[in-house]
Amino acid sequence: MISRVIILLTTILLTITLVACGHQEATEPTGAAWVDGERLAAADSEPGNWMSHGRTYSEQRYSPLAGINEDNIEELGLAWSFDLNTQRGIEATSIVVDGVMYMTSAWSIVHALDARSGEPLWTFDPRVAKEKAKHTCCDVVNRGVAVWQGQVFFGALDGRLFALDAATGKVNWEVATLDASLPYTITGAPRVVKDKVLIGNGGAEFGVRGFISAYNVNDGSLAWRFYTVPGNPELGFESDALEMAAKTWNGKWWELGGGGGTVWDSMAYDPELDLLYFGVGNGTPWNQQIRSPGGGDNLFLSSIVAVRPDTGEYVWHYQTTPGETWDYTATQHIILADLKLDGETRKVLMQAPKNGFFYVLDRTDGELLSAENYIDITWATHVDMETGRPVEVPGARYEDEPFLMFPSYLGGHNWHSMSYSPDTGLVYIPVLDIPANYGQPDDFKYNPGVANTGTHGIVGSLPDAQAEREAMRALVQGRLVAWDPVAQKEAWRVEHKGPWNGGALSTAGNLVFQGTANGEFVAFAADSGEQLWAFPTQTGVVAAPTTFEIDGEQYVSINVGWGGAFALVFGEFVQSDSLPAVNRVLTFKLGADGSLPPVKWKPAVVFNPPALNASEATLQEGFGAYQDICMGCHGLNAVSGLTIPDLRGSAYLWDPRGWDEVVLGGKLRDRGMASFSDNVTPEQSAAIRAYVIQQAHRGKALTEAK
Ligand code: CA
Repeated sequence: MISRVIILLTTILLTITLVACGHQEATEPTGAAWVDGERLAAADSEPGNWMSHGRTYSEQRYSPLAGINEDNIEELGLAWSFDLNTQRGIEATSIVVDGVMYMTSAWSIVHALDARSGEPLWTFDPRVAKEKAKHTCCDVVNRGVAVWQGQVFFGALDGRLFALDAATGKVNWEVATLDASLPYTITGAPRVVKDKVLIGNGGAEFGVRGFISAYNVNDGSLAWRFYTVPGNPELGFESDALEMAAKTWNGKWWELGGGGGTVWDSMAYDPELDLLYFGVGNGTPWNQQIRSPGGGDNLFLSSIVAVRPDTGEYVWHYQTTPGETWDYTATQHIILADLKLDGETRKVLMQAPKNGFFYVLDRTDGELLSAENYIDITWATHVDMETGRPVEVPGARYEDEPFLMFPSYLGGHNWHSMSYSPDTGLVYIPVLDIPANYGQPDDFKYNPGVANTGTHGIVGSLPDAQAEREAMRALVQGRLVAWDPVAQKEAWRVEHKGPWNGGALSTAGNLVFQGTANGEFVAFAADSGEQLWAFPTQTGVVAAPTTFEIDGEQYVSINVGWGGAFALVFGEFVQSDSLPAVNRVLTFKLGADGSLPPVKWKPAVVFNPPALNASEATLQEGFGAYQDICMGCHGLNAVSGLTIPDLRGSAYLWDPRGWDEVVLGGKLRDRGMASFSDNVTPEQSAAIRAYVIQQAHRGKALTEAK
């Protein structure tokens, strides 16, 4: 009887819901997050909302709001903060629609908050299995949600795409976008164009075949999929574009994980041209001599691709780094704008991909209009305007000798959002200035499920001698650069204390906001770079700010929480320069004077290693295996970024059997440490332990010397 009543009630509720939905007028903003194409295309007419990832389809991340401006910025204070119950990297851009904020924290957890007060409305945790962390190159991060006609869409780390009811956080539908057995992940934010949710994926370090998919908003059915690299030609091609692309490949790339080319972050849309643009990532493995022996451009790696959003039909592409061999992705932020070039207004697309060049393309057909390097680079002299190709320096492909590359595999610019202000005409770029040494590996064997860069394990590693380490360290820099895209030159720069800083937001108040690696949220004058205001965030910031307005009052908000690739790998720098991950949403307005509670958590490594009695050969083997398999999370030279345990302080160093139970047996899989028994032999596990003991002794000696 009771169950019958429940069924009846459910039926009634469902009917009411369906009727309610049926009566929703698509053009009338009636419910929560009732955003549609008309509203998004006219986003500048309601600057109080931040309705999509880059605020507008052009992804300029510029706000016409000027309530907070250079004249009153000193009155800006903390209005509210919201604690996220995670301690990893926070990379999400908040979406704010009609007074409600939607954002994601680490492990793909979604929060809806009252944007005026920070009061939580609902939370949704997709309960991603923690051992999925094994397949992340760059932390268990998520860059945010998309909203459309009362639904909130996001991609979970394990590849599921969710549609939630924006009012309640209940699941409307979910769909697996990828084969969960393969080392794909989703960290990027979806976009919605017309009635389709667009989502890509990551995993090219590990060995996957990249693609972007479009799902119907109402039921999650797959509308189209665009693969970015061809599969085995003997099996045929999914499209003419891939048949063309296959002519630019050699060897058997599909046997090495699938060629890479993941679409893990940037997209933009031009409603007038009806073109969707997305950026494509690096190859698997990085080393092209292994991936595609004999060379070739390897389309569509490191390319910007334009397609029709209804069908996924290829329209044009521009490849930034032909035959990429350094992890030089073109997944970086894409901005659309109309620029006056040589007296003519051009519809352009701008990108500062990892390779160090700032590109201005005609977005109607992909024609290269200009390209200049936005940092000092060592691998190419310039981009040839006739061919559109970079002119490489001999040896840069590290065929015979190692080559010191500027920029590194982290890029001159990574995923951290830029901002373009039509007021100043400047693009604000969070620039990384980091070298990396690339060399040929002694041997290479594809190891499914772990990173397969195909480069010698010295990538990014630091010399052992302390003086050399300090010298190397001085080369690792970062700054905010204001770039003039018309003149293709720097207008001003602000040097930061470290390289891994947050994304940018510019406003009509002549302001640029950015969070920093060393834990500050800062406002600069957009025209001059003068620092006008700063607030201590108690943790490094990597996300990008948003701004919005409620009842005529402007707010600026930033999600804080140190993390991402640099934070994990470069622990050596993190431990002295940055702050661990307190995860929060911080929202500011004029006249507010809120404060944060005192920092309680200050992790430090306690060194207590057992005696080192391994042979030099074992230590070398341990070093190699550690760099290939462990470094991506536990840090270069076994120095962690402190959001993940520093192995040099591990009690398992005393317990060889317990160590193997973790590394090979997966004993700590529920805490994010999966079993590596498929990738590491028992002998290698012991060698890695010996290497970590060696590094613990080194850390202990350095600490005692201080
Ligand atoms: Ca990569």
